[in-house]
Amino acid sequence: MSDPLSSTYVSSRTVLDEPHILPLLPLKNVVILPKSIIPIIVGRDVSIRAVEAALSGNRLVFLTAQKEEAIENPSINDLYTYGTVATILQDPVRMPNGALKILAESMYRAKLESLSLDNNYFNAVYTELPSINCTESVELQALWRQLCKIYIAYTKFDERASTHLIENIQTATDIDNATDTIAVHSNLPFDERQIILETVDLHERILLLCKYIQREVDILQTEQRIRSHIQTQVEKSQREYYLNEQMKAIQKELGREDHNSDIEDLRVQAIKLNLSQEAMKRVEKELKRLEQMPPMSSEAGVSRHYIEWILALPWQTSTQDTISIKQAERILSKNHAGLGKIKERIIEFLAAKKFSKNLERGPIICLAGPPGVGKTSLARAIAESMGREFVRISLGGVRDEAEIRGHRRTYIGALPGKILQAMRKAGTKNPVILLDEIDKMSRDVHGDPASALLEVLDPEQNKTFVDHFLDTDYDLSNVMFIATANVIENIPYPLFDRLEILSLSGYTEEEKKLIAQQFLIPRGLKEHSLTKTQFKLNDDLLIRIIDEYTKEAGVRQLERVLTKLMRKTIQLLLDENNPCKNVKITEELLFEWLGHPLFKKTSLTKATKHIGLATGLAWTEVGGDILEIETSVLPGKGNVTLTGQLGEVMQESAQAALSYIRSRAKELGIKPTFHTSKDIHIHIPEGATPKDGPSAGITICISLISALTQKPTRADVAMTGEITLRGRVLCIGGLKEKLLAARQYNFNMVLIPHENENDLKDVRKEVDLGNLIIIPVKTMDDVIQQVFFENPLIAIKEEKKKMRTAKQKTSIKNLA
Ligand code: ADP
Repeated sequence: MSDPLSSTYVSSRTVLDEPHILPLLPLKNVVILPKSIIPIIVGRDVSIRAVEAALSGNRLVFLTAQKEEAIENPSINDLYTYGTVATILQDPVRMPNGALKILAESMYRAKLESLSLDNNYFNAVYTELPSINCTESVELQALWRQLCKIYIAYTKFDERASTHLIENIQTATDIDNATDTIAVHSNLPFDERQIILETVDLHERILLLCKYIQREVDILQTEQRIRSHIQTQVEKSQREYYLNEQMKAIQKELGREDHNSDIEDLRVQAIKLNLSQEAMKRVEKELKRLEQMPPMSSEAGVSRHYIEWILALPWQTSTQDTISIKQAERILSKNHAGLGKIKERIIEFLAAKKFSKNLERGPIICLAGPPGVGKTSLARAIAESMGREFVRISLGGVRDEAEIRGHRRTYIGALPGKILQAMRKAGTKNPVILLDEIDKMSRDVHGDPASALLEVLDPEQNKTFVDHFLDTDYDLSNVMFIATANVIENIPYPLFDRLEILSLSGYTEEEKKLIAQQFLIPRGLKEHSLTKTQFKLNDDLLIRIIDEYTKEAGVRQLERVLTKLMRKTIQLLLDENNPCKNVKITEELLFEWLGHPLFKKTSLTKATKHIGLATGLAWTEVGGDILEIETSVLPGKGNVTLTGQLGEVMQESAQAALSYIRSRAKELGIKPTFHTSKDIHIHIPEGATPKDGPSAGITICISLISALTQKPTRADVAMTGEITLRGRVLCIGGLKEKLLAARQYNFNMVLIPHENENDLKDVRKEVDLGNLIIIPVKTMDDVIQQVFFENPLIAIKEEKKKMRTAKQKTSIKNLA
């Protein structure tokens, strides 16, 4: 259809005067509008005959569309009434199947009036339909311009619209013709083309076309938008794909392939671990950063370190609790001798845990006592009996909050705190964590570790524990915490409030012997693969080891010494020059292997006399100890010197004792002016050890009295008690440890404050004090009575009595 418009304008209406009857060509599925040249394939016989009739005449045909495509022999009702009159332009071409191909030029609208069948083809009787409302008016012009605009907009989407056509339309003078041309060249659907054909009113036709074409423009615009959107999407993904490929190639060149596969491994691991949502987000973010970084850069190291830490923590793994009370009892007694009450309390605790599985708010056990009494091994046994992992955190010397809670990642070499390190070590989310030496924490400018620990122990807060390094919540609520302490008083108060203290005391000599025989030696032998016959140690030597080579409340040192003996035994057994297969430890071997006794104890069984010397009892962190107090009195001006690293309280005790003596100087037979004519020196040996506390009051006093009166004290008596100015004896603490020390050092008698009598009952229940005589005292007079061989007070009374009788005698003489 080359340049249809020009031909339209060239053709002229030569047919107007012809009779209004023409051969009919019914068309399937096509509406022919005026002013168009179109090829038509004519297949039906009746139509072929119609074409032949037209060709033999004036070459004109009446064209109209069938209402339904499928009908082969349409009647008048099956045809649209409105059609066009067309002329056949060239001779038809016959196709191989017999059909004819004609080129027809439609000219004007016509209305079918009737049909008649002549010579086996249909003739259409029609009336011509000239256009109406074609008069030039402003409105028509406006409508026309609008249509032109819309059509030009339309042609932008239609590649087939030639610029020539657009130009012709813009310069057209016959608007009627030009409107039909636009209709022909707009891709309108069948129905709408038929409507346009039937609209003879030009105004109306332009309006309809505006509406139809504008709709087409809208559809096409939307289509274009969708297309370009899809295009950009496709382009973007193609671009990404291309860039990724490029990046891979670059990284391959740089030798970073391993880096990427490592990152992928980390990602897979994170997914497998089933991390918390928050932690997963952090890992993902960090992995993304890692992907962008050169693998050997320091930032990559930091990122990787962080991810590896998260992946190393237990997030979901836990052990099943197996709390069987019988089994717990068995495990506790398998590893520990004695400790009846403590074991009882632990079993009670485990039973409560078993009964109520959600016992999160249960107290936190704190095992308190001197070193080496089995606190750690008890905690380990608790973990074992519950089937949980066990980890120990040493809190001794911790003074920075960051040690508990970790350092922020901004610090170089930052690490998580001790709690998360322990979790990593445990590998399960419900281990038993031992907070060892909770009393040894201190605080400084970097914060208070106790408050961080408080959060760890608080069931309300420990579900969402935040370590500074990890910077994400970590659930500690399944962890069972056990604490240990040496000195209860040193536990920070808020922590103390959360703890249930189970006190363990030091062991007596017999208990140590028993522990060594039943536990330490068999365990040591097993560890060193020795048999009982290969290593023999008799009871006497064991006692000597306990007495002379160890000085402790627990059995740690003893264990070390026994292990040393076993190692030496192995050495001897392996010695080629030694023929014997078994080693019996003798006194000589003991000296050879361990050296001279470190703590030679003076035998106090035979009471000896000392002047200016008294023995007190002291409580220390490692158990009880004895305190020898010496005093010497020299002529002088009343200076009092105290040496031996005495604390303030002890110095005050010494002053109080002096004041008491001055107030009773007369009764004690001491010159009342001694405090101005004598220099007094009080010394407590083992000066390197700082000593403090008021409980040495009565001992200082006795030492002073002995030195001032030159009366000897009994060396087999030890004492403890605070002194008041009027000579009352006040109560003291640490009675159990002090009595154990007195027993260890073989004292025969101990003087304790009367007010401590109730404590004594408890101590007797807990520990075996053997033959130790314990005398509660109320006043210094009671003390003096027990300590001196010859009571100075009695001596005074007797002297007075003597003087009185002497006086009486002289007066009698005088009288005589
Ligand atoms: P602590 O934690 O109180 O300092 P440990 O638990 O480390 O003491 O104990 C030191 C050693 O002494 C361990 O080998 C432990 O098994 C042993 N031990 C302590 N008390 C007993 C006891 N009553 N029975 C058996 N062994 C004990």
